[in-house]
Amino acid sequence: MPITQTEAARLSRRTGLAIDDFSWQSKGIRMLLNDTTTRACVFLLTSSAEPHAEGMCSVYEIRPKGCQTYPYVLNDEDTAILDEGCPHKDKFDPPSQEMTSTLLNLEEQILHERPDE
Ligand code: SF4
Repeated sequence: MPITQTEAARLSRRTGLAIDDFSWQSKGIRMLLNDTTTRACVFLLTSSAEPHAEGMCSVYEIRPKGCQTYPYVLNDEDTAILDEGCPHKDKFDPPSQEMTSTLLNLEEQILHERPDE
């Protein structure tokens, strides 16, 4: 899950963790880390290593915007779709035009934060 620098700073401040303890950077984009045992996000409270194991987000109140908008994601045509990999996608309404705008704005913000921008 990509996150903004502001979200990384907030998560660090509120959890007391160093930013590199819960995220890593690839091509200037910061992403949440997965736990090596559960293979889920490091903030997911679960003891199962199953790919779709149930769990609770330990930072729910301050979860990044990309988590708040999931399972809506952008496709290659920059249109919001429901992520095929989400096991609960059938419980969600089809994405709205507003969701496309929200996701495009978030993507723009994350790309703009790259050091070479
Ligand atoms: S909602 Fe919480 S547990 Fe899920 S990816 Fe986001 S931060 Fe991690």
